[in-house]
Amino acid sequence: MTTTARPTSRPSPRPARRAMTRVEVRAFIEQLAAANPEARSELNFVDDFTLLVSVVLSAQATDASVNRATVGLFADAPDPAAMVALGEEKVGAHIRSIGLWRTKARNVVALSQQLLDRFGGKVPHDRAALESLPGVGRKTANVVMNIAFGDSTMAVDTHIFRIGNRTGLAPGTTPRAVEEQLVKRIPAEMLRPAHHWLILHGRYVCKARRPECWRCPAFEPCQYRLKEDIRHEAPAAKA
Ligand code: SF4
Repeated sequence: MTTTARPTSRPSPRPARRAMTRVEVRAFIEQLAAANPEARSELNFVDDFTLLVSVVLSAQATDASVNRATVGLFADAPDPAAMVALGEEKVGAHIRSIGLWRTKARNVVALSQQLLDRFGGKVPHDRAALESLPGVGRKTANVVMNIAFGDSTMAVDTHIFRIGNRTGLAPGTTPRAVEEQLVKRIPAEMLRPAHHWLILHGRYVCKARRPECWRCPAFEPCQYRLKEDIRHEAPAAKA
């Protein structure tokens, strides 16, 4: 183990040397795609409704913890009517192991009721309608539109926000600013799957505390200031 301070222990306020060029953006996404061509959501769901509920539950929780909770929840409540019938208390009992479970239980029952009352029990393919549902914000709406309806949306979670700024892919001070940069800079035909490539890259390689630059498939186009230092530290990091 090294005793010197590691670069990643001192996050730079301007982590990227510069914004990537268009050519570099394309190369970055293509290299992530080549490394993980079948990238998909790690949440378990069987239809639009269970996707929506899973994404609502995943706020500030891991996908694995949500999947463990939804096995029983979706067995008891596979559709909006059953979720309303199950009620807040029993929904809460299923999801008690994940963060913010009381609020989430309330929201899941309330959004199910609204799907029945306003949308014929269907998940609407409409951003404003989605964002009007309890517990559904822009990020959740983007995920549902991307996965359920095939729209070229970009949901900016903590991983994508970090990657956008660290690598120069899409610098921005807010998730919305990063989203707008990504939509503008990523080639249109790559935008929809790029959501998954970027999330999985942030989750498993370009990690928050210590990006694993030594095994990064998109090392060359990345503009992170410390990538060379971290790559050279790799043997110590893996020891
Ligand atoms: S080289 Fe390092 S900082 Fe750049 S994308 Fe890869 S893991 Fe992230």
